[in-house]
Amino acid sequence: MNQNYEARLSQSTPRNGAFTPTVSIFLSEMWPHELLDIELPRFRANTFITPQTHIKSRNMKFNFLITLMLLVVLAGYSQEVLLKNVRVIDGTGKRPSEKMNIVLDQGRIKTISKKEIISTGHVIDLTGKTIMPLITNVHGHLGMSKGTTVVPENYNREHIARELERYQSYGVGTVVSMGTDKELIFSMRDASRSGKLPGATVFTAGYGFRPPLGSRPQETGMEKLYRPATAGEATENVKTLAVLKPDMIKIWVDDMGGTAEKIKPDVYRAIVSEAHKHGIRVAAHLFYLEDAHLLLDAGVDIFAHSIRDKEVDKALIERMKEKGIIYIPTLTRDAYEFFYGTERPWMNDPFFQASLEPGVLEMISSNEYKKRILNNPRLQENKDAFNMALKNLKKLHDAGVMVALGTDSGAQPVRAQGFSEHLELQLMVEAGLTPLQAITVATRNACLALKLSDQGMLLPGMRADFVVLNSNPSEGIKSTQSIHSVWKNGVQVSSGPITK
Ligand SMILES: [Zn+2]
Repeated sequence: MNQNYEARLSQSTPRNGAFTPTVSIFLSEMWPHELLDIELPRFRANTFITPQTHIKSRNMKFNFLITLMLLVVLAGYSQEVLLKNVRVIDGTGKRPSEKMNIVLDQGRIKTISKKEIISTGHVIDLTGKTIMPLITNVHGHLGMSKGTTVVPENYNREHIARELERYQSYGVGTVVSMGTDKELIFSMRDASRSGKLPGATVFTAGYGFRPPLGSRPQETGMEKLYRPATAGEATENVKTLAVLKPDMIKIWVDDMGGTAEKIKPDVYRAIVSEAHKHGIRVAAHLFYLEDAHLLLDAGVDIFAHSIRDKEVDKALIERMKEKGIIYIPTLTRDAYEFFYGTERPWMNDPFFQASLEPGVLEMISSNEYKKRILNNPRLQENKDAFNMALKNLKKLHDAGVMVALGTDSGAQPVRAQGFSEHLELQLMVEAGLTPLQAITVATRNACLALKLSDQGMLLPGMRADFVVLNSNPSEGIKSTQSIHSVWKNGVQVSSGPITK
């Protein structure tokens, strides 16, 4: 193995008046697998502080690292943290609470109140700042885009690990990779879920289902897809996939603008029926209202995109509520089909640019790219689909359907991971949700969609997973972009995507 890393040690670094011992290790080149087998989350307890002393070494002995890690565990992790005077958006949808004091202990929120608290632990004054739960993205993709390419080689451990760190730096704490994965994802998912892999926590739909003659995106790296021709074949495929314990199953039910075959209803009925026998839910890529009705008949659990051809009807709304269907609008996905045909106000914004892979900004800024969008014969249809998505989101949300945030980020270079989740919040507000409603969709609802009952809300006993913001997003949703720091399991894991 190529052991190529750097350790930085500082015994005591001031931050907001408190002193905390700190060790940071920066990994480069190959991902050192051995590190993953150690108590990495505890080690990461204090990696947020700018180190004062550097110990730099190449090919250093591994037991030295272990010693450093133990030092950190002993020194810092057990300490309580008190966050003082902070505005709290708790994710439930209620108005922000002002000047709250929050005690974090053992990775969870111990108390949260207006009461003055004397703490012997680490005290951080957050006067003027706002905290909200981490964003959960219930529809994303990992290991697909790199630079301006979407090729099979992009699916590797190092690249996916970087993507997870990027999501996390944008305050996205969890991401569902929606049906475009390969074998590697299952070991990474398990490492991520047990806290041994840094970055956003991974959920996966494993290998998705497309029709035998549908669009053939193998050249983009989706060679693991199932393409059952019959219900019997579909049942066998689900049995094989279920062994790997995917968090859900993804099916594509779309003719891609009349250019491809759709999965037949008898085939997807078999997929849903077998998935449910294994206790696995099924998420459907869809476009048409008619398919939405058929998918409900089949017992599908999650709509992974907006319904974009027609306005949703009363019968559909009632059926969705009755069955507890989760609706993931992915508005950014539809926006990117035409947004960069014209200059967008955020294109010079470092918060946006930091989310882009190398070459993407040049690509979307080029006249050639603009022309391709503006000359697309489907341009008007794309805009109409986006506008219908906005309208249907508002209608479904107002009616009480469970809406959860998803973006489709990562599937294409233009669908930037991290930024897209914040743009999605803005577009939900454009659709007519209030900023607090949009935040609830991105936090509490998205966690409920994944059955994560102790995340997505800032309440006593819940996991201390949150983002600290410099301004208040309940007064303007763009303030979710003013990231001061990102916290997971009660420790700071990032100071945001922009180098300060
Ligand atoms: Zn997708």
